[in-house]
Amino acid sequence: MYNATNTLKCTERNSDIFSCFKNTLWQFDRIQVLKNDTLRIKVTNNCPLTCNFCHHEGNLKSKNLVLNQDLIHGLKRLHTELKLMQAHLTGGEPTSYPHCRELISELKSIGYRVKMTSNGQFDSDLIMQLKNAGLDGVNFSVHTLDPQKLCSLQIQQKNNVWGLHALNRQLRNIQKALESGLEVKINTVVQNDSDIHDTLKIKDHCKNMGVSFRILNDLKQGSFSIKRIDEVLKSMSARLECINLVDKSSSYSLIMISQDGFKFKIKCIRKNILETLCEGCKERNNCMEWFYGIRIEQADDTAVVRLCMQRQDYPAIQTFEEFFTSKQFWEIL
Ligand code: SF4
Repeated sequence: MYNATNTLKCTERNSDIFSCFKNTLWQFDRIQVLKNDTLRIKVTNNCPLTCNFCHHEGNLKSKNLVLNQDLIHGLKRLHTELKLMQAHLTGGEPTSYPHCRELISELKSIGYRVKMTSNGQFDSDLIMQLKNAGLDGVNFSVHTLDPQKLCSLQIQQKNNVWGLHALNRQLRNIQKALESGLEVKINTVVQNDSDIHDTLKIKDHCKNMGVSFRILNDLKQGSFSIKRIDEVLKSMSARLECINLVDKSSSYSLIMISQDGFKFKIKCIRKNILETLCEGCKERNNCMEWFYGIRIEQADDTAVVRLCMQRQDYPAIQTFEEFFTSKQFWEIL
């Protein structure tokens, strides 16, 4: 456990909505503060799905990451100078990135633990290849176990045959990942009332499989989505066990236990400001995520550091060279 008591002084906007621990959340005596040591690397914008809540890590137009010496040098500096220990591959769908295995090997040789978020829509043979390259874990995004509902979550129109095929493929790949020894988690986004039943079913599925389960809110819908998560918690008669707060990040998790004894997490966002970035920001009244952590993505001709999902200007986006001499770097350090 990382000791950073100042982080506890944070203001919190979403916790009030969780009725089961109203007024008690921040007096809770089991708060663990964890170090913010994760780097999110957006490797591609491509994805076989078109889920309507996807935020594309803040950029619909980023390119496939170019794996060159400049990128590797930047990743090494982030590891050694900011002590980032875990690289989390995102997208789009990371398995759609053609150099996934090479990137994983490079990250491992630098010293990162490597995980990815995936929708499970890939050839099953890939699992062992990624594991052999050094992948440590996969967070599978599973939002429903109903093929028809899966179709309805897509922006691109799909039919039930597609839905059934996609769902079977996803569940098969989760099983394969488990059998391969990878660390497996299932993430479910709750958007509206219709997702409550799906979330309860997925939770039962995770319990049966012995897989970690995490509920996320839809960032674009803010407190509306959080209220639906609260309904899920009431349906499970879940109780709060502890809070994991990430220092210098807007991310924190509620560790919950359902009435039937299953431990799971709710991922939440708190107001965490990076002063040198957020001061004077025009988006501040509509900020969805606050300062979460460092992201990497590919701009037209170089890899860049992204510090905010909502803005496309400097200093929210900087080259590696700019970042390592920036005020934001010194504030994060
Ligand atoms: S939109 Fe970005 S820069 Fe603005 S307040 Fe939110 S995190 Fe900070």
